[in-house]
Amino acid sequence: MKKDTRITTTGRRPDKNFGIVNPPVYHASTVIYPSMAALDQAHKDRRNGVKGVYYGRTGTPTTHALEDAVADLEGGECCVAVPSGLAAIAAGLVAFLETGDHLLMTDNVYDPTKSRVCEDLLKKFGVETTYYDPMTGSGIADAIKENTKVVFVESPGSQTFEVQDIPAIAKEAHKKGAVVVMDNTWSGGYYFQPFEHGVDVSVHAATKYIVGHSDAMLGTVTTTEALFPKIKSAVNSLGYAAAPDDCYLGLRGLRSIAARLPRHQETGLLLANWLAEQPEVERVLHPALPSCPGHEFWKRDFTGSSGLFGVVFKEFSPKALAAMIDGMELFPIGFSWGGYESLMVPTYPAGMRSNPPWPHKGPSIRIHAGLEDPDDLIKDLEQGLKRLSGTS
Ligand SMILES: *Cc1c(COP(=O)(O)O)cnc(C)c1O
Repeated sequence: MKKDTRITTTGRRPDKNFGIVNPPVYHASTVIYPSMAALDQAHKDRRNGVKGVYYGRTGTPTTHALEDAVADLEGGECCVAVPSGLAAIAAGLVAFLETGDHLLMTDNVYDPTKSRVCEDLLKKFGVETTYYDPMTGSGIADAIKENTKVVFVESPGSQTFEVQDIPAIAKEAHKKGAVVVMDNTWSGGYYFQPFEHGVDVSVHAATKYIVGHSDAMLGTVTTTEALFPKIKSAVNSLGYAAAPDDCYLGLRGLRSIAARLPRHQETGLLLANWLAEQPEVERVLHPALPSCPGHEFWKRDFTGSSGLFGVVFKEFSPKALAAMIDGMELFPIGFSWGGYESLMVPTYPAGMRSNPPWPHKGPSIRIHAGLEDPDDLIKDLEQGLKRLSGTS
């Protein structure tokens, strides 16, 4: 069956739920065993990785339905749901790293991956991180050390949107025995199939496009059967338990991703192309535009673009930028993109990037194109640019 068909069917069990289409929300902490023999069997099954209902923390049928659907969406074999995207990133890394190991992290990664996971958590436990140039491709070979256990990719990168040559990076990583972990949030899992491009572990902030309605925090880690025990063990050790209500919202959001993302794509491209023509704009950072670094890899490896992109302006004062952003009607300031609504936030890549340093002096923003009518969005942007350039 094709992907869109599977997205609407996988993880459903009406035969087990009175014919009800959607798996209900099972809330649980305690699970009762009828006998010691049953308890013994449950222990054995858990050790052997059999997906079952053992204890609330290890998931209920609601959790498992979401996990099955996300694994299918991404073309992976196994998935585990966790309480946030950042939790998924932490689990995907600690599963493969220990004291004395080395991690290669793309320099354009989501900032909390850098500041919280690498520079706080992993550093405390003696794992060293090197930030590599996202455009390095097979040049990654020179950065891989004897003790490099993980190469982490995020494509396109947060804020600056460079698209990585993931197959080339994965080839070199695998030659040296390193695992490739990807943050695949931007594509929604819908426009990029990680396991067809050499990725071993795909993590998502399901909070974004999978939930899709700005009303739940959720993460997923998808991988192969061979690597899943390590991921599951890390998730168990960390004590993560994704809430059943949020798993339900994730699954409910996922069912309509094939309808939502093309609209986000269409409006995102309309806005990006319009902005690229405006005199206030220095550069638009959108993987589907030929000016985007790695655009050729996006064309080769992705099947579409989502609604998130960046804009770099010519040099304007912080006051002018605030006049623009504060006055927007349809683009409120907010972080968690991927919902149905448009958003705008100022970005500060100069303070985050070191390899290579950020070349632009003008202010920059990130836009999420929502499901509103694009004519209204462009009118709002038009007024915003007037406030930015002081001509309003
Ligand atoms: C938002 C985001 C995350 C973190 O997800 P949360 O659910 O907010 O923890 C991770 N990676 C990327 C690329 C994101 O945009």
